[in-house]
Amino acid sequence: MKVALLEDIEKLKITEIATPKPQAGEVLIKVEVCAICGTDIKVFHHGHRLITFPRVTGHEVTGEITAVGENISRYKPGNRVAVAPAVPCGDCYYCHRGKQAMCENLQAIGYFWNGGFAEYMIVPKVAVDNGCVNILPDNVSFEEGALAEPLACVINAQELSNVGIGDTVVIIGTGPMGCLHAELARAIGATKTVMIEVSEERLELAKKTVETDLFINSREQDSIKLIKELTHGRGADKVIVACGVGKAQQDAIEMVANLGNVNFFGGLPKDKPYIQLDSNILHYKECSITGTHGSSPCHNQIAIDLISSGKIKVKKYITKHYKLDNLEEAIARAETGKEMKIIIKP
Ligand SMILES: [Zn+2]
Ligand SMILES: [Zn+2]
Repeated sequence: MKVALLEDIEKLKITEIATPKPQAGEVLIKVEVCAICGTDIKVFHHGHRLITFPRVTGHEVTGEITAVGENISRYKPGNRVAVAPAVPCGDCYYCHRGKQAMCENLQAIGYFWNGGFAEYMIVPKVAVDNGCVNILPDNVSFEEGALAEPLACVINAQELSNVGIGDTVVIIGTGPMGCLHAELARAIGATKTVMIEVSEERLELAKKTVETDLFINSREQDSIKLIKELTHGRGADKVIVACGVGKAQQDAIEMVANLGNVNFFGGLPKDKPYIQLDSNILHYKECSITGTHGSSPCHNQIAIDLISSGKIKVKKYITKHYKLDNLEEAIARAETGKEMKIIIKP
């Protein structure tokens, strides 16, 4: 089978390897779609602590099951599925408490195991056992299903931040994750959503993708002042920072309301993880800060259900397609920030 093998940092090779056979408890998937994620770009340039080279990366995967190993009764060849790539162990302190995203032994497809930038992909037993293989309803295409993973991360964040009815929700960063945040907040019942961005080009792309009450270019406008004006001086109930910029995190704390919540959804660069924080703001506002970085298999199932119900429409996020042979070109394109989501098809 054809795979895109990352042999080392920035060394990607399209090559043939033997098509794996599913062992007991495993399923084999013929990959239909693998979407490119921001982390795929990071991994291409910098590697990842969970990755040993060579590795087939790619973790936003949908496809058709073509073979199952022994002891598999839930799935059969012909099933159309989406795979939740973050694989909990099912048997640790957090897993037993239903917090699989925090699993102490978390592993991931495309990191620890070969991923979806390939013609076929094995889903390991521990992933099958822990609910990582989700059947796609007939009305969800493979392309839409591939966006279940990013949407799952957004659901995890808004659950933790308790985004709810009547909230004013501000999202800083208007990439695909930021846009999904705006859509989910509206679906949940937020009365106002505001999106903030420094790049005019990305702001324009977001305007074409998602409905929101106000778009702010924070390079040209005072976003903190505008949010205060919009909320009669109170600030936003929830602020989600969907970019990896320290200044944005600081601004978020300034613009959150009393008793509100700020979610650091985007991680900061490893060499610049510190921000300045006026802790008195937290003291007097009685507000909270949460962080989120992933999702659990059940968030992936909820994401598929939301897509299937039509409450979250993800088709419009797919702005470009590439063949697996051109993965490197596709990664370069993703890096420009000029696309929402790029789809790779084997
Ligand atoms: Zn992803
Ligand atoms: Zn666990």
